[in-house]
Amino acid sequence: MNAAQKAQPQATSAAGPLGIATVALARQLVRRPSLTPKDEGCQNLIAQCLRAAGFSCETLSCNETVNLLATHGEGSPFTLFLGHTDVVPPGEENLWEHPPFGAELVERPQGQYLTGRGSADMKGSDAAFTIALCHFVARHPEHQGRIGLLVTSNEEGDGQGGVSYVAELLSERRLIPDYCLVGEPSSLNCFGDQIKVGRRGSLTAHLTVLGVQGHVAYPERCDNAALHAARLMNALFSERWDEGTEFFPPSTFQVTNLNCGSGAENVVPGACRIMCNWRFNDRHTPESLKARVQKLAAELGVRMEERWVINGLPFITQGGALLEALQEAVERHSGQKPQLSTSGGTSDGRFIAPLGTQTVEFGPLSQSIHKVNEEVSCRDLGILTLIYKEVLERLHQDRD
Ligand SMILES: [Zn+2]
Repeated sequence: MNAAQKAQPQATSAAGPLGIATVALARQLVRRPSLTPKDEGCQNLIAQCLRAAGFSCETLSCNETVNLLATHGEGSPFTLFLGHTDVVPPGEENLWEHPPFGAELVERPQGQYLTGRGSADMKGSDAAFTIALCHFVARHPEHQGRIGLLVTSNEEGDGQGGVSYVAELLSERRLIPDYCLVGEPSSLNCFGDQIKVGRRGSLTAHLTVLGVQGHVAYPERCDNAALHAARLMNALFSERWDEGTEFFPPSTFQVTNLNCGSGAENVVPGACRIMCNWRFNDRHTPESLKARVQKLAAELGVRMEERWVINGLPFITQGGALLEALQEAVERHSGQKPQLSTSGGTSDGRFIAPLGTQTVEFGPLSQSIHKVNEEVSCRDLGILTLIYKEVLERLHQDRD
């Protein structure tokens, strides 16, 4: 019996036997306040379960970030489950109905819920992955290929030393996953209604629009940087970057910060700093966006200094064995026909997909994530565990 099964089995039977184990492990994880990049022993708990089931577990630390890589079996295909043990801060704790790190179970008319920071994003999925892997190996010790779990303690932060770091190691070791299933909360309105098959890219620009500073009473001797910045922003907001694609919505532009002026009432600013961000689809590359912005600025006669940060490239998995297995498993266990989507922010899938790995995301409802009173349905966690296990069964049958 592993650590998860030993924990207080208070989840109701609506979660199913696997669900009870998943909820018990999820509760232990939620009780640890693992604010990015802290792990607070979460990965040890997961490793304990997986080691007892025969997995080899390796901790890969980089600076303050810790990552757990657990695998079982060898050869191909290689299916990697991907998660994170860090959580965003709870904010004002007295606004929470139940303590954010209390992992309390509450009864609602719709069933039982696990409450707390990280319950939905994404310690519930981490637990479901772990229990699914343990049960699969217990039933199929001689399964085909390699299966595994990678969890990082730095997904919600800057990602430094996290999945990008492990992806490089995997690449060096020639241990490239064929399939990667990310457990981020992908469901939109009801559990099972959405699978993410890709994500948009994210590009940030720090633009310093230049003018000439001077006395406000002598505008003929100044060149107001605020005016140039306003003209440039107007052009960027008005631009139609593309029409979207079959899988992606149109790319979008937003200003995220604006800073200008000396603070004095009588000084015309000589510089205006714009921080802005594009969420872009596969019609663009960071280079093509950059070139378009530079062209727009040149047409307006706007002078500027530029610093660009590529946060992630767009990726898409348009079909293949993993998506097929997941679609069938979701339909069978949740009764939903999931729509395929690329909406939302970036995820750590962006570091694995460039290895050539089929990468998709499926997890619980996202409605309460990063909010006060985050929670997840225990029944959904039980079904999620069955779905993850069935994906393994479909991709890794027993060797003959
Ligand atoms: Zn997350």
